[in-house]
Amino acid sequence: MEKAFNDYLVNNNYEHFDLKAVLFDMDGVLYDSMKYHARSWHETMNEFGIKTTPEEFYLYEGMVGRETINYIIKRELGREATQNEKDKIYRRKTELFGQYNKGELIPYAYDFVEKIHNQGLKCVVVTGSGQPTLINKLEQNFHNLFTKDKIVTAFDVKHGKPHPEPYLTGLQKAGNIEPYQAVVVENAPRGIEAAVAAGIFTIAINTGPIPDHVLWESGANIVLPSMEALFNNWDRYSIEFTKNKMP
Ligand code: MG
Repeated sequence: MEKAFNDYLVNNNYEHFDLKAVLFDMDGVLYDSMKYHARSWHETMNEFGIKTTPEEFYLYEGMVGRETINYIIKRELGREATQNEKDKIYRRKTELFGQYNKGELIPYAYDFVEKIHNQGLKCVVVTGSGQPTLINKLEQNFHNLFTKDKIVTAFDVKHGKPHPEPYLTGLQKAGNIEPYQAVVVENAPRGIEAAVAAGIFTIAINTGPIPDHVLWESGANIVLPSMEALFNNWDRYSIEFTKNKMP
């Protein structure tokens, strides 16, 4: 376990951590919403006559909607998606998601955010989502542990995950901190890639159907089965975050 922390420092050429903030992905980390996203995407694509599987959308998680649409249309129809298609498909998907989504939190997500907050660490949300259904509920569901000025959404960035921009913007919102002053909690391969590209220590929480090895291959420093496991391991990790790089 110590190795994961030391490897990060060595690979990124940092002497030590100086933890100030935790950057949370939203879908699949804070909200148990990925099943509704996958179902909405799959049904929307069916309506438009485009072949997909519900499971594949777990792999595209973190990408902004128009990029997902373009990727699938390119694969299935061999051409770029038109602006009209992107708009119509995304609108329908958003509509279905609004109908299906129940807004349940991932078990232990609230407890973990509260724990971090009580330790004086800043809590920031970095999501590829542009869906008001959940973004607007964050403050309410997490009792102001997250505030609007500490949320990065699809509207704040030019490039979605796996580009590092969303997480670099998250570091700015956390108070212009450096990568070694933050930790990312992610569940999706493309989100992990984005966090790693931003140079931040990344803990993957596997809350979906994707096998663990995919999350490791995306560059995660640690892979855990649940937020509960993160909650239970955090005190041990906190000790590692105070150590210096081993010679
Ligand atoms: Mg996610």
